[in-house]
Amino acid sequence: MAEFSIIDTYFHRQTSASVDLGVGDDSALLTPPPQQQLVICADTLVAGRHFPLDTSPHAIGWKSVAVNLSDIAAMGAKPHSILLALSLPQIDHDWLKGFSQGLYDCCDQFGVSLIGGDTTQSPHLTISVTALGWIETGKAITRSGAQAGDYVCVSGTVGDAAFALHNLGHPLQKRLDYPTPRCQLGQKLKGLASSMIDVSDGLAQDLGHILKASKVGATLELNQLPISPDLQNLTQEQQWQYALAGGDDYELCFTISPQNYEKLLQQQLDVNISKIGQITQQTELTFVQNGVDHSLQFHGYQHFA
Ligand code: ADP
Ligand code: MG
Repeated sequence: MAEFSIIDTYFHRQTSASVDLGVGDDSALLTPPPQQQLVICADTLVAGRHFPLDTSPHAIGWKSVAVNLSDIAAMGAKPHSILLALSLPQIDHDWLKGFSQGLYDCCDQFGVSLIGGDTTQSPHLTISVTALGWIETGKAITRSGAQAGDYVCVSGTVGDAAFALHNLGHPLQKRLDYPTPRCQLGQKLKGLASSMIDVSDGLAQDLGHILKASKVGATLELNQLPISPDLQNLTQEQQWQYALAGGDDYELCFTISPQNYEKLLQQQLDVNISKIGQITQQTELTFVQNGVDHSLQFHGYQHFA
């Protein structure tokens, strides 16, 4: 079966009315809404590197979209569409069926259309997705706006996916295979959060990117870290290790002024928020337990380590 037949069979569904031209021509066409900026990002998943080789094709399809929608959410933006660049070692119809179903399930859940891509043969299974979204001009939440005195918050629970990677088959594996991009929360934080990042490489490292970009520091209260009940049998140090240095959480970490935090609490949110610390003037990340200094060294995921 040729490339075009793969595209027609698995990746050519009806798109939403907000897509002027989707899969099938040399490029897709979109009309930007007035006074909005295009928000665009890309993320690549390599088999054996970003997911275990025996991960179900449905989960791979879901996750390849979800990790990108998470980046769009981390800017406060509304996701709109994706492009898919797929490199396949061979044509495996069962795999393509499961993969495309997982990809469309994630797209459908978050109101996103697949509008184009590329399909090639390659020795390694590689999936690269580009996501597009929109945000009112000037409203994007970047990494550089944190101010001393802001609270540091994180959504959901952290460390589940890293724990699951070391305990394959555990019920928490759904958090590794089917991350939930925090699209609703991201958009609700527009106009409220001072900075934001999605947690993909470990909370400590990703918060570190905010601190560096904002030229500030932070104190985190270890007892406030949102850790799943499934991890409570581990030692406290192990729990913190997963929560702070584990990857693949796809939660949102953001900073917010105390006044805006009160406003946020009055909103209906589809995920829990934990206040885990505060931004400081001194440019370092410190940890406290019940207010007492507790020194910890963490390193998040390094792609070229
Ligand atoms: P071109 O040769 O002009 O780059 P292609 O033959 O690669 O075009 O692709 C034909 C059409 O199918 C294009 O609209 C392209 O965006 C789309 N497409 C190719 N691969 C995929 C894919 N994996 N998922 C979605 N759309 C795809
Ligand atoms: Mg062409």
